[in-house]
Formats: sequence, C-alpha cells, structure tokens
Amino acid sequence: MSDYLNIPEIFGSDVFNEKTMKQRLAPQIYAAWKNCIRENSPLQLDVANEIAEAMKVWAIEKGATHYTHWFQPMTGITAEKHDSFITPAGDGTVIMDFSGKELVRGEPDASSFPSGGLRATFEARGYTAWDPTSFAFVKDGSLYIPTCFFSYTGEALDKKTPLLRSIEEVSREAVRILRLFGDNETKRVEVSVGAEQEYFLIPRAIYAQREDLRLTGRTLFGAAPPKGQELDDHYFGTIRTRVSRFMQDLDEQLWRLGVLSKTKHNEGAPCQHELAPIYTDASNACDSNQLIMMVMKKCAAKHDLVCLLHEKPFAGVNGSGKHNNWSLCTESGKNLFKPGDTPRQNAQFLVFLAAFIKGVDEYQDLLRCSVASAGNDHRLGAHEAPPAIISIFLGDELTAVVDSIINGTSYREQGKSIMRIGVDVMPQIPKDTTDRNRTSPIAFTGNKFEFRMLGSSQSIAGPNIALNTLMAEELSRFADILEKSEDFDADLQKLVCQTLTEHKRIIFNGNGYSDEWQEEAAQRGLSNLRSTAKAMPTYVSQKNIDLVTKRGIYTETEFRARYEIHLETYNKLINIEARTMVDMIMHQILPSAIKYSADLASGINQKRQALGDRVTALVETSLTERISSCCDRLYESAEKLHRDLKAVPRESNQISADYYCDVIVPGMERIRKDADLLEKLTPKSYWPYPIYSDMLFY
Ligand code: ADP
Ligand code: MG
Repeated sequence: MSDYLNIPEIFGSDVFNEKTMKQRLAPQIYAAWKNCIRENSPLQLDVANEIAEAMKVWAIEKGATHYTHWFQPMTGITAEKHDSFITPAGDGTVIMDFSGKELVRGEPDASSFPSGGLRATFEARGYTAWDPTSFAFVKDGSLYIPTCFFSYTGEALDKKTPLLRSIEEVSREAVRILRLFGDNETKRVEVSVGAEQEYFLIPRAIYAQREDLRLTGRTLFGAAPPKGQELDDHYFGTIRTRVSRFMQDLDEQLWRLGVLSKTKHNEGAPCQHELAPIYTDASNACDSNQLIMMVMKKCAAKHDLVCLLHEKPFAGVNGSGKHNNWSLCTESGKNLFKPGDTPRQNAQFLVFLAAFIKGVDEYQDLLRCSVASAGNDHRLGAHEAPPAIISIFLGDELTAVVDSIINGTSYREQGKSIMRIGVDVMPQIPKDTTDRNRTSPIAFTGNKFEFRMLGSSQSIAGPNIALNTLMAEELSRFADILEKSEDFDADLQKLVCQTLTEHKRIIFNGNGYSDEWQEEAAQRGLSNLRSTAKAMPTYVSQKNIDLVTKRGIYTETEFRARYEIHLETYNKLINIEARTMVDMIMHQILPSAIKYSADLASGINQKRQALGDRVTALVETSLTERISSCCDRLYESAEKLHRDLKAVPRESNQISADYYCDVIVPGMERIRKDADLLEKLTPKSYWPYPIYSDMLFY
C-alpha cells in the first residue's frame, strides 16, 4: 500500500492554481483576479500585494526559498533568474518577503538574450510581467512565475506575448462567424492544443563519452549498426524497466506541476519514446510543453539516463518530432472542427474548414518557416517524417464532401443531389479512417488538425502563432463578406464552394514520402522549401508582414527581429557542429586510426622478422593502406572545413545562413562519410568513443 499514488490528490499540488487561490485569497481579492482575466485588464497593486503574500506563504510551505520570473525568449527555450525571498530585518536577521511589485514585474538582465536588433545596446533593459492567466508553480525550491518579456519601449521580446495576441485574434474572429450562425452567447473561442512529444533516452555513461552529443545534442559521426529499426521490435516491445521507472517518475512530477500527462509509449526508433498530454488551451499547452521538456531532462539524469530532444540524434533511424494537435472550441466546450448532426452545424463546420484550407494554402511559407531549424532540416525534406511540402490530409470521407461541393456532384454515389450547404446533411465522418496517413504534414483527425512538422526540441509557440493568425485572417475575411450578405444561404454556398475550388491544391491524401508527390506538388505550385536557409526569406515576404501587422500579432520590427534570430540561431548551431567535427577528427578520430594503422604496420614487421619474407600479411597491408588513405582524405577535408569556417561571410544573417547551408553542411556530410568508413575499418578497442550499437542497443 505504501507505493500507492493518489493522483487526484497530487495533481497540481505544486501549482498555485485556481482552487488554491480560492482557498487562500480573500474572496474580494480572488474576485478581482478573476475579473482581470475576464476583462483582460491589469492587476491593481493592492490586489497584487495580497496575491503575492498568499503565494509566498504557500510556496514556502512547499519548500521554496526563491522566486523566479519564468519567460520564453525568442530562442525557443525558457529562461529564469532566481531571487531569494530574504530581506534584512535590520537587526541582523532576515524575513521572507515578496511584494506585489515583485510578482507583477521583473527586470532580468536582458542583454544576454537575443533581441534581433530590437534593443539597442545602450538600452539593453528588458522587463518581465506576470501573465495572470498562467498559474505560478513551485519546482526545485523556487516559485516560478510565468511571465511575458518585453523591451523598455514595449516590443515583445518573447514567444508568449505574440501567442497570447494571436489567441485573442482568432477568438474574436471566430465569434463573429458564430454570430452569423445564430450563436449569440459565446464570448470567447479557445484554441485547444495537445502536443505529443518524442524523445530519446540513452545511458548517461555512454553519452558522457561522446563530445558530439554533449556539445550539439546529436551524433555527428557514427556508422550504421547492423540492425536498425526494421524489425519494429522497439515500437511494439515492452518498455525497459529502467525506462519505465523514469516514465513513472516523470509522470508524477508532471502531475504535481499540473501537466496533464496522459499517454506514454515506445516510438519507432530504438531508445525512442513519446509522451502525449491531454489538450488544454494554447497558452497553457505551450507552458506545459516547456515544462515537459525541462522535467524530462532533469528526471532522466536522476535515472542515469540522458534525454535527447534533438530532432535527429542518430542517422539511419527516425528522428524526433512533435505533433501539434490544434482545434478551436467555444467556452462551453463545443469543438468548431467537429462535423455536426444538423445541416446548420455542418454549414458552420464547413466555413471553419474552408477558412483553414485557404489559410494554410495562402500561408504555406509562414507555416514552413515556423518549424524551420537546423535540427529539423534533417527530417523535413530528407525522406523522413513529413516532407517539406505543406499539404492537408482530409481522409476519404471529407474529401468526398469537398469534391461534391466543388464539382456540384452527388457526394455519395447513391445520393440524389449535390451537397447544398446548410440544407443537406453531411455523411458521418468516421474518426478512425482519418488518422492513418502518417506521411501528411497536416492531417484532419476527426475534430482537430494535427500539424506534424514540428521539431522535437522547438517551442510550440511559433507554429501555433502561425495557425491562429492565418485562421483569424481568413475568418475575418469570411465574416466581412457574410455579415453584409442579403441572401445568407446562397452567399454561404458560393463562398465555401469558391474557396474550396481555389485552394483544393493544398489537399493531398496520398503518400507524402513518394517522389511522385514531389513532382505533383511542383505542378500544383506548392512550395517545397527544403532547408531553413532557403525557407526563411519567404518568412518576411510582404504578404506575411501584412498579415501579422494587420492582425496586431507583431509590429514589423518585432517580426523582422524573429527572422534575424531564427537565422542567427541556425548559423550558430551549424557553426558549433562543424567546429565540433573538426575537433573530434583532430583529437580523437585521426589519433585512434593512426595508432591502429601503426600497430598494424609493426605487426607486419614482427611477422616478417619471425617468419621471413614469404609472409604475405595481405590483410594487414590492405587494411593499413585503406586506413591511411582514409586518414589522408579526412585530414584534408577537416582542414578544408576549418578554412571554410574562417571564411563565413558576415554581411547579414541571411548571407551567412546561405553559406552554412551551401558550403558547410555539404562539407560536414562528406567528412562524416570518411569518418564512418574509418570507424568500420577500426576495431572497437581502438575507437575513441561508443558506437551506434552501444548507444541504441544498450
Ligand atoms: P491519437 O492521435 O493517438 O488517435 P488522440 O487523437 O485522441 O490520439 O489525441 C492525440 C492528441 O491530440 C492528444 O494530445 C490529445 O489530447 C489531443 N487532442 C484531442 N482532441 C483535441 C482537440 N479538440 N484539440 C486539440 N488537441 C486535441
Ligand atoms: Mg496523434
């Protein structure tokens, strides 16, 4: 009985959530906080003071000694600076103090966070402000206060602020559409998001021996092991004891933090696993996903494991992604992407569907860029995961409906008439036929869209900002037309039909991995941006700037700052990887191979001394020759990479990125080939670090 875990009791026990607030705050303070959230208005200082005091008492009871403003800078990870609660009492003692001002506003040293040119160096100050819609929590002895991060002049320096803005936008425009369908009650539409997280776990002792893993999070070298993932035995296999202990521990910690961790299982590649939470509102889902990634790393260390969140830690087996399940639902819980039972509900569903299809087609590039990173370049467009081409999978049933609307034909062979929107009943859209196409980047799965292009390590904020914003834009255009309509049913039919006709090219139910799709997509005029460097110029196209500024998600300056940081991060990562490669070649790989070939050569000599010249030593001679020439090539290419790295053009981040993409990355690929060949020729006892089979099949 002692091991019994009372989950309802521990769930959220480390969160200063609504229930705790209700218990610990005076009724009028609680009401004032509630009101702030409802009205989206700032917190009064006296209210903040009371909340801060209650929070502090609660946090100290939970073992906290410090507090931190937790924020999500533009790099996509989270940042924190911890201050203790101590304040001198004047008599050599301290009291534990925490004021409303400290809760509401912070001033981290912002100069170390990239600003993409938003902050001039003389005004490096940045501020954090509590986002009262996100609950504070206690973790590792600190009270964490989720905050937004902005500059002295008010520009958003983080990912959270634009996310919150985009949620407001899509809510407002969706409500306009609901009004047209006679819903006069709904005040808010929530974006619901559930992000499935993939990750690798490997033993810490092995990780520690690999410089590439330690410095870059992925293996830069490594010959393919004799066995990969072809047997699917990992996916269907039972979870290793050590891993399952890790998972139990992880779940418990996440539950305490109020994260709705629901599903855990092995994934396709050896050592690969997945965690899926139950969906929540987008802002919370974004915080939760950051927490999931943080806690995964910490918890792995406790179990002598290392959690790899990189998109492509190992060549030859699947990389890791994140599936972003996205939908819209009213405050009363009605899912707007759920086909309904009545013609009216269906009509409303089709409006939302048409808006989504149109938005994805028109802003393919924005979506593509929202998932572009050095790590994800190994997946997208590289015969794995979804391709770099954006398309939507609707499944057979829904596609039949769409076709019938477009063609004005019967949607069922036996059907009598064409599908008249708002008049005819749609066929049932069965949920389970819709999720089978694993190759599609965006799949309709019954009542939500699953955006599958996200990299495993990235923040989900960017992709959700893109989805929310394009949706807000299309809904608003639809509302503009329909609000003026004098014949609603006729205009609705026309609008949906016309929209689907114009944007049907983005719908694709076939195999996204196939070469035929690459050709067909090109014929359809869909974009196929295979790398971050080549994709990013489209991010700041006039069309996208117009979209985000018109909808108030970013100012143009804020938007361009994201573009610069995106590229800067890409450049830095590739630079570190390339330098690590050179380092490992010079300090580890070449010395080991040279030692082995020297031993081979002296072996030949010893043999000859003992047995005379009739000894052929064919194997040793041939191996020595092959190793020598391989070493020569490797040395040459390492020297060249080193020179190329010195010659990176620096006129702009884009110019550097193009160079990294066109010169450095191919150089790294060539080097890897030779190094991996050398690994195959060299015995394990000589090789300087663990090889793939040690890491993947421990
Ligand atoms: P599966 O993909 O294995 O069939 P589900 O579709 O039930 O499983 O859920 C996958 C993920 O999608 C989960 O994280 C789940 O919480 C999330 N999800 C389910 N419904 C919604 C929704 N309406 N909006 C956003 N996410 C959702
Ligand atoms: Mg899924």
